[in-house]
Amino acid sequence: MSEPEHLDRRMRVGDQQTVSRFLAPLIPGSGGQRPISGLLVSLTAGGFILLSLIGSATAAAEQRNCREPAIVPRADWSAAPAIENRMIRQVPRSIVIHHTGVKSHPHLPLEQKLRDLQSYAQRPGSEDGRPKPALGDTPYHFFIGYGGRIGEGRSLDFAGDTRTNYDTADRIQIVVEGDFDVEHPQDEQLASLEELLCWLGGKFAIAKSSVRTHSEVAATRCPGANLLSALSRLKSGG
Ligand SMILES: [Zn+2]
Repeated sequence: MSEPEHLDRRMRVGDQQTVSRFLAPLIPGSGGQRPISGLLVSLTAGGFILLSLIGSATAAAEQRNCREPAIVPRADWSAAPAIENRMIRQVPRSIVIHHTGVKSHPHLPLEQKLRDLQSYAQRPGSEDGRPKPALGDTPYHFFIGYGGRIGEGRSLDFAGDTRTNYDTADRIQIVVEGDFDVEHPQDEQLASLEELLCWLGGKFAIAKSSVRTHSEVAATRCPGANLLSALSRLKSGG
């Protein structure tokens, strides 16, 4: 657990992929997995053309119907207290999707991964030959583990942390466990991601256009080619 195994792989300057348009189907009703109204169900049969017709305000209204998915709260994974003076307050207005950047650990419980992630994040050290600052808490707000269980990370009242160069203020950080340049995300993980995006989108009135991948906002391959293509397949309904 001394390894930075739950953090993003070191920044790698790679292809800049613009995939926010692929994320539209992850927003409520578009994936067909959890229809939220008869109207939307009938409309989604028409494909994403329909989604382009739904304005962000309408989408936000629809999103409010999404239930909160099952989330393992901090108390259940025995989180240490957050160190608030190391963090900056925020108001969530957008979402960024990541992968952990290392291969998944199917046999470790989610709770253990969250404890390890927080413990690593909160202590100083070095990483890849560079000093590693001690963070106030887990760098991400939500962790979707192998199997699709969702864990609560950093409080949404505080901005996340990153080792890449972009402003994390006012963003909700979601990380999916795995190295998706090598592995493929599980259906369970994608379903949980979809549910989480749907719920958060409604709760904070976050428009589809404000859901991004890390690679869209910083020079990194995160969240990996296979997660990007999975998001693309979801868009096409495949
Ligand atoms: Zn990332």
